[in-house]
Order: sequence, then C-alpha cells, then structure tokens
Amino acid sequence: MVYFCSGTDSERLEWFRTINIAGENLTDQELRNAVYAGPWTADAKRYFSKTGCAAYGLAGDYLRGVAIRQEYLETAIEWHMEAEGVKSIEEYMGRHQHDPSEVALWNHFRSVIDWTKATFPKYRKEMKGVAWGPLFNEFGAGGKGGKKALDPKKLEKQVADLMEDEDVTSKPGIYSYVLDGDESHLNIRAFSPNMKREAYERQKGKCPKCPKKDQRKLDLGEMEGDHIKPWHEGGKTDAKNCQMLCKDCNRRKAGK
Ligand SMILES: [Zn+2]
Repeated sequence: MVYFCSGTDSERLEWFRTINIAGENLTDQELRNAVYAGPWTADAKRYFSKTGCAAYGLAGDYLRGVAIRQEYLETAIEWHMEAEGVKSIEEYMGRHQHDPSEVALWNHFRSVIDWTKATFPKYRKEMKGVAWGPLFNEFGAGGKGGKKALDPKKLEKQVADLMEDEDVTSKPGIYSYVLDGDESHLNIRAFSPNMKREAYERQKGKCPKCPKKDQRKLDLGEMEGDHIKPWHEGGKTDAKNCQMLCKDCNRRKAGK
C-alpha cells in the first residue's frame, strides 16, 4: 500500500510522527532529515551523521548522543540557530534545504569547538554535553560578552576549585558559571532535614529575620533553610551555617 501525501513542512513532519509509532522509533532529527531532504541535508550528514565522521573526530568528547542517530547534527544546528536569528530547527532546515552545501554550519561548529578547547584547554569528562554553542555565541569574540578577555589559566583554577567543592552538585554547570556568574548552573547542595531540624531547635522555632515584635513559634514546615554566610562568600552547606527563615524572609533575602 502506498500513500501519496501533500502538505506543508510542518504537516508532513506531523504525519511522519504519526506513522512512526510502530517499529523502531526515529529520533526527532531523523524525522526532520526526511522532511527537509535535499542537497544541504545530504552534505550535513557527511560531516555529522556517520560513525567516525568529521564531527566525531573533532568533538566526540564534547557532544552528547551518537552521530548515527543524528544527535550531533541536531546539536550543531541548535548552536547555529541563534547566529542566524531563527527560532527552531525546522525553520533553520527549511531555510537551507536547497543550499548546495552546509559549509556555514560546519564552520560555526568548528569555531565553537576551537574556542572551547582554547578557553578550557584541560579536558574533563564533565565537558561532554555542555551547551558550548550558546556559551561561544555569548562569550566568544563575536558575542555580547566577548569583549571581556578570557584568561584560560584563571578559568582553569576556578574550574579546578569548583570541581572539588562538594556543595556544587552539577559539575557540568561549572563551565557556564565561571563565564556568566549565575549560581543556578551549579545546583548548590540544599540543607539536609537533620541540619534544618537542628537549626530549628536552636532558634526555638522563630525566624531571626522577622522584626522582634512579630516573632512567634512557627512549624518546621513553615520555614526554609538558608545559608547564613552565602555559598559564594565561602559559606558551606553544613549544620552550623544553616538558619531557618520564614518563607517571606527567605524569598526577600533571595530577591525572588
Ligand atoms: Zn521571617
């Protein structure tokens, strides 16, 4: 049985998804390659989609997934989308479908990896799967943050220290953090129930940040753990650096 279907790109993609429910499931990028088949996609697959392809040789240690399931190609397009001002992989592929070659994508990908290797010369396994493209787009020479000269030696020292900090629970997030300073990449360890209980008893259930006249005994569940000395000033996630605040005070302190 043969069906002939017609429609827009997004309709065809939706149709592929629908008929792909049975058997071996195709990845999103495998489906896109089918919908946007053409010289551009054929060329891109030579670089990004074969076992032992050029992208694997250059950057296999830095990429999540496997080339033959089109995950390298997907990542490379995601990294280049911003530079082209497009919002989705589909839009990107639609725009390039009939281009004779994908050399612009490969050049951008190579720039990302070259920049990564020059900025963080010491390889660690935690570097695999980091979103290097957005970091390059922001902090590479052409990016908004690219005017500030980066010092690989200084960065390496910061990375090494943070790798050993047991309060940093997301080690891959270190690379983003040393560039943009956003602590949320690090997923700083939260206080354990025991640490919180200890602080709660010590404080006799009262929030030390509330005005004296409003202080009353709260339930443990009405309070949240807070670093007395903030993590970025060297405060640890341990019992003696824990205080319990009422939810209002904690949010105010965190600036939420
Ligand atoms: Zn309070």
